[in-house]
Amino acid sequence: MTEENSPKLALVTGAGRGIGRAIATALARDGMEVICVSKSPDSCGAAAQAISENGGLAQSLAVDVSDGNAVREACEKILEERECVDVLVNNAGITRDNLLFRMGEEDWDNVIATNLSSCFHWTKALGRPMTRKRRGRIVNVSSVVGLTGNAGQANYSAAKAGIIGFTKSLAREFAGRSVTVNAVAPGFIETDMTSGLDERILEAAISTIPLKRFGTVDDIAEIVAFICSERAGYITGQVFTVDGGMVM
Ligand code: NAD
Repeated sequence: MTEENSPKLALVTGAGRGIGRAIATALARDGMEVICVSKSPDSCGAAAQAISENGGLAQSLAVDVSDGNAVREACEKILEERECVDVLVNNAGITRDNLLFRMGEEDWDNVIATNLSSCFHWTKALGRPMTRKRRGRIVNVSSVVGLTGNAGQANYSAAKAGIIGFTKSLAREFAGRSVTVNAVAPGFIETDMTSGLDERILEAAISTIPLKRFGTVDDIAEIVAFICSERAGYITGQVFTVDGGMVM
């Protein structure tokens, strides 16, 4: 198989479940070979196995994305065998919500490390071969609260707003090399991250959504798949809000 017609290689963080797993599945459906990354070997292993059982190409890789050394080591191993990862989706994220005066420093640091610094580690390690090859797509998963802020989520909102600044800066740095860098900002999506919300908060949330429902993981996966496709080569530095109309 020549390089031109071999499948593109994608790496998706937080691919063990939720939005990341749906993104990995959509990219595999679109013909890419996907490296599914999550913290637990079981969850990324199950995601990769499900993709393979459906005829796709996938492998799993357990890495704590908040650990810069672990990310660098993982990327070195990948790049010993492969010239380049063509598509990087920085999706892994956590919440540790609390009002500021009750928020511990550990909850601040963990959320910044997992949601924001992880983007720095993966992009620095995998971006160089992309720029050298003059092709590539990077998609960072932000959140509407990175645009609006949210009481009780100062750490998470700061990380998600940081992702937007990071995305726009790198879009400018990498544009001369034809590597695009974009962000997706989901609103409320039905996943484990939102399943713990109590009934009162759920109702209040839905009342702020013009389309009157939470989004699905596929609502996010489909736009990421489009941004990662050949069809999106003229789009960079953008933030795509997918939120049922909450932020207009
Ligand atoms: P989820 O909790 O269902 O899944 C998160 C995934 O990230 C899991 O696979 C988990 O293993 C992985 N992960 C977490 N910490 C990690 C670490 N340190 N190292 C490696 N992997 C780690 O979350 P989700 O709802 O699918 O969210 C995915 C992304 O979308 C997150 O960045 C989240 O902030 C963002 N987002 C979600 C919503 C929503 O409503 N669900 C809204 C806006 C943004």
